[in-house]
Amino acid sequence: MNSNKTHKTICSYCGVGCGILVDVDAKGTISVDGDSDYPSNKGMLCSKGRNLNYVAQDTTDRILYPEMKWSRNHPLQRVSWDAAFERAAAVFKSIIAKHGPDSVGFYVSGQCLTEEYYLINKLTKGFIGTNNIDTNSRLCMSSAVVGYKKTLGEDSVPISYEDIELADCFLIAGANPAWCHPILYRRLEKHKEENPQVKIIVVDPRKTQTCAGADLHLQILPGTDVILFNAIARRLIEKRKIDSAFIKKHTANYEAVKEMAYTLTLKEAAKKCGIPVGDIRKAAEYIGNAKKFISMWTMGLNQSVIGVAKNVSLLNLSLLTGQIGKPGAGPFSLTGQPNAMGGREVGGMASLLAAHKNLGNAAHRKEVSDFWGGGEIQAEPGYTATEMFDALNEGKLKAVWIVCTNPAVSMPNSNKVERALKKAKFVVVQDISHNSETTKFADLLLPAAGWLEKEGTMTNSERRISHLPKVIDAPGEALPDAEIIWRFAQAMGYKGFDYKNSSEVYDEHCLLTKGTEIDISGLSYERLINEGSFQWPVPHKTHKGTPRLFTDRKFFTNDKKAHFNAPSTLYNKSEETDNNYPLILNSGRVRDQWHTRTKTGKVKRLLTHIPQPYLEMNAVDAYLRKIKEGDIAVVKSRRGQVQVKVQLNYDIRESVVFLPMHWGKVLNNDFGRANNLTNDLVDPVSKEPDFKYCAVEVTKFVKE
Ligand code: SF4
Repeated sequence: MNSNKTHKTICSYCGVGCGILVDVDAKGTISVDGDSDYPSNKGMLCSKGRNLNYVAQDTTDRILYPEMKWSRNHPLQRVSWDAAFERAAAVFKSIIAKHGPDSVGFYVSGQCLTEEYYLINKLTKGFIGTNNIDTNSRLCMSSAVVGYKKTLGEDSVPISYEDIELADCFLIAGANPAWCHPILYRRLEKHKEENPQVKIIVVDPRKTQTCAGADLHLQILPGTDVILFNAIARRLIEKRKIDSAFIKKHTANYEAVKEMAYTLTLKEAAKKCGIPVGDIRKAAEYIGNAKKFISMWTMGLNQSVIGVAKNVSLLNLSLLTGQIGKPGAGPFSLTGQPNAMGGREVGGMASLLAAHKNLGNAAHRKEVSDFWGGGEIQAEPGYTATEMFDALNEGKLKAVWIVCTNPAVSMPNSNKVERALKKAKFVVVQDISHNSETTKFADLLLPAAGWLEKEGTMTNSERRISHLPKVIDAPGEALPDAEIIWRFAQAMGYKGFDYKNSSEVYDEHCLLTKGTEIDISGLSYERLINEGSFQWPVPHKTHKGTPRLFTDRKFFTNDKKAHFNAPSTLYNKSEETDNNYPLILNSGRVRDQWHTRTKTGKVKRLLTHIPQPYLEMNAVDAYLRKIKEGDIAVVKSRRGQVQVKVQLNYDIRESVVFLPMHWGKVLNNDFGRANNLTNDLVDPVSKEPDFKYCAVEVTKFVKE
């Protein structure tokens, strides 16, 4: 279905969600450019987005038709879609009949479109009768979801990207936007270039590219973020740099936070964080003197066994200073994936309900189940990401349906995940290419349409909802993910899945949000196509969207106040280092790769930046181990080991090493596979894994 028309769509990589113009010429050659009319990126694209045309055009490795194993030891064989749905429905029905609905689960992705997310959630919670649907977004932002809910009453990013150009102080914690949210960072960098008085504080155990533009880099010891934020809070209180009128009128629980902030003196806090006390004072001075203050954070805070404590202690700083609900101010969680926000809207997690309703609330559950017309929705959360794979290993979960994600590489403690997938009675993998290591475990492999090959919507980090049109036909027999799900639901015999297109699914989702905080009942494909993107809520058909939340200083809590939360702990609870494992491994992203490289790994241009995994190590730690630049090292944790080339510098703290998370089993020898090492401890509330902290030892590789 190629045409000469220029199509407006959205980048399929990160949560910045840049607008892209797509052209397809008569020969079918695809070209992409930044959309200068799109408010989020104003025409800019980063290296990943700029090379999306290569990914869209490359059909090598694509799954072209359904493939099925007739039994575990047989190879996958081509089958028809009808046969695939018949088998999937038969196996799911039989397992559910024997072991109950909680014996099956769905593991999906922040790259799914909102309609796909909505349908899987509806099918699982509303019809199968289990809350066992979770997502790889659990791995990146569930601590932020809990932090926002506890503080603001709802999972709600209060600000817009346009606030960046209005702020005069930024605290960027546990994030490297220069590499991981490049266009957002470019907006910040330009703002700073034009307004040198703007202050940027970066909190990170590594000196990353983002630090190049910072006025202050707080290179804290891993796991000491809560101590740092509490110390800044204490200094703000002592120096009377807090907004007492705002605190009195619009917040609750201030005294508890004040008490906790005073647990340590500034000197004690600085010592524990491993930074000069003057730097804490300086950070508090910048924040306290700011007219408009924005905090930004992502995985460095979220991916922790104390992720919620880190989030609430940072959110407290915005409340203390009254920096929320006004232009240029607010706490801004940067989402990792392109539609992590959309997934949250439809309740696409084991602990959430659709339309930001509350799973623990019986009236909310009834509203949603009545709307869907299926069965009763269970009150208890289902298995979260790591719990799902634990449940497979323990035999409690028998079948898992994996959509658009590669847990064999992306989950912590990947050897355990592999064991779980081998142990499962039935594994369905629905994806675009064989490039994903997880397809090797599939009993049923379903070909899905990719970017440009299907229609739907996504929501970016600033709550901006956009329409993504179908531009080209999918190869072979691949189908849109939404259609795969509704046809499976039909094969299961469920009513309420007789959709003709994704627009009908979207209308249903919008209607369900009516009267909620995220009300988008004023939206439709027609409006999104004709009028462009909208920021939720959009509660009626002429509403123009909401760039900023809480401008009336009324929050989504029952008492309409923002709630201070004393963090549950000051101290890190990650696994201990000892003589055998004395170093702390931090994992993260590099500029030109995305997740497990199933797409970016195929683009030659992107491989020129960093072509292979590397271990970043402080030169002092390396010297003590007789390791030199470029040596191959063995990195060993309590769960596994990898070999990887060493890169030395002084930008990373002593006793800390860093491995990118993108690489899986390359060269068949676990070369640089970070998640062989990471541990699957999770935050007790958000259930987000502790990817940023595990105990390791590094030795020089010696050939036997
Ligand atoms: Fe795509 Fe993110 Fe780059 Fe924008 S910043 S082009 S959304 S990867």
